[in-house]
Amino acid sequence: MAEFDFDLFVIGAGSGGVRAGRMAAGMGKRVGMAEDRYLGGTCVNVGCVPKKLYVYASHYADDFEQARGFGWQAGAATFDWPTLRDNKSHEITRLNGIYRNMLNQAGCSLLDGRARVVDAHTVAVGEQHYSAERILIATGGWPYVPQFPGHEHVISSNEVFDLDTFPQRMIVVGGGYIAVEFAGIFAGLGAKTHQLYRGELFLRGFDGEVRQCVADEMRKKRVDLRFSTDIECIEKQPDGSLLARLNTGETLEADCILYATGRVPNVTGLGLENVAVRQRENGAIIVNEQMQTGEPSIYAIGDVTDRVQLTPVALAEGMALVRHLYEGQPMVVDYELIPTAVFCQPNIGTVGLTEERARERNGEVDVYSSSFRALKHTLSGSDERTFMKLLVEPVSDKVVGVHMVGPDAGEIIQGVAIALKAGATKAIFDSTIGIHPTAAEEFVTMRSKSRY
Ligand code: FAD
Ligand code: NDP
Repeated sequence: MAEFDFDLFVIGAGSGGVRAGRMAAGMGKRVGMAEDRYLGGTCVNVGCVPKKLYVYASHYADDFEQARGFGWQAGAATFDWPTLRDNKSHEITRLNGIYRNMLNQAGCSLLDGRARVVDAHTVAVGEQHYSAERILIATGGWPYVPQFPGHEHVISSNEVFDLDTFPQRMIVVGGGYIAVEFAGIFAGLGAKTHQLYRGELFLRGFDGEVRQCVADEMRKKRVDLRFSTDIECIEKQPDGSLLARLNTGETLEADCILYATGRVPNVTGLGLENVAVRQRENGAIIVNEQMQTGEPSIYAIGDVTDRVQLTPVALAEGMALVRHLYEGQPMVVDYELIPTAVFCQPNIGTVGLTEERARERNGEVDVYSSSFRALKHTLSGSDERTFMKLLVEPVSDKVVGVHMVGPDAGEIIQGVAIALKAGATKAIFDSTIGIHPTAAEEFVTMRSKSRY
């Protein structure tokens, strides 16, 4: 008889947990998996997937408008929030079902409920205890909202997808991924949208020119961007609307206020005090290169470790861990050159170093950049601009950073990321024949340095 109920017990059926659990089960391991909210985790339920559907929805207003320049005449377009929200929910429910079938077919034992670590080899789900040779914590993150007078009136990204009524006036607070994406969504869907950011320019950590370009483009799309601005307090008014008093002395009225001010590791009630797992100040679980915590039988991957909070990174960590544990492969997750996209409007796509980081690291960097009005907009009437930038290390000629702000930047940068992983030089970019007429061809035709 086996010493443990399971070889691997996974806590959390999100991006990382599902991938690890499915793979381990596929290798013949006995896998238990607990999930207390929704199969597929943040990404499927309140993250990447519904967010991208809403980004698509929000583009139609521009598309209808721009179609006129191409000869299309249609009646006045109207938007119905309940249709979008409910269609989205049906699709998410369908995906939840697919996840359940996939896990069952892989042979994982799914347990619906919140799990708690009891000791180095025991997990409790409700009253039931399960023993496991190894435990994998993949519990993800949770929105962080600062405490201030009136904070109880705001919502986070957990609630924003399922609002009962569409807010005609929206305030988004924050200057990271979620804030810029949702400011774009609500503005596109027709809400009067204000975005407030506490610093001088949002999207800290992205390339400086990219940040400025996105700010310019979002303003053109009628987002009221206010930097060096924060909310001091919020009052609920008799008609149910919200009055935000700002640190600038101004006030703003809104029907809904979204705080997108970061995420914290989801470790509440996880029982980590019962084991030797070490945590950072914000609760993040500390792991070594093998994803192992201070308790040798317990591992952690994904957002709960608060390193790179992206779905493909959680997937890569889950796969690498299982191959390492059960196939004896070396643990390899390459955190260099992780491409990323922000689905603001227009999108950001980026891979490698920013110009600021490249100068800090190498001293010198050759910059090739281009800003242009895309072919489509010669007829559409839109004054949107596309921005592209290559950063090249002068001595080696290696391309060390590629950035884009423009339609489908995420789609374009995914391919460019492969070239950078392969160590492509500027000479290789230059010798690649373009695809015409596309915006992407600009990446292989930027001949003159903008500066160095
Ligand atoms: P999660 O996917 O969060 O899964 C954790 C799971 O554990 C959850 O289902 C949770 O319910 C469960 N759980 C927690 N505690 C317990 C417990 N004690 N017992 C049982 N179950 C528990 N990333 C991208 O790459 N691209 C995007 O476009 C993108 N968009 C995003 C948009 C938004 C609004 C948000 C919030 C995030 C977005 N992300 C995006 C980030 C991405 O969703 C996360 O990086 C990813 O989901 C992390 O995966 P994970 O496995 O670590 O955790
Ligand atoms: P981010 O960490 O990206 O941004 C948080 C923002 O909130 C920053 O602008 C930060 O300002 C600001 N902030 C933090 N605390 C406060 C405060 N007390 N008052 C006012 N502002 C504050 O977090 P998000 O919540 O946007 O997203 C979480 C993560 O999820 C992202 O980092 C990303 O990894 C992932 N994600 C990925 C997406 C994608 O791949 N497209 C989409 C959405 C999320 P400051 O810069 O000054 O610190």
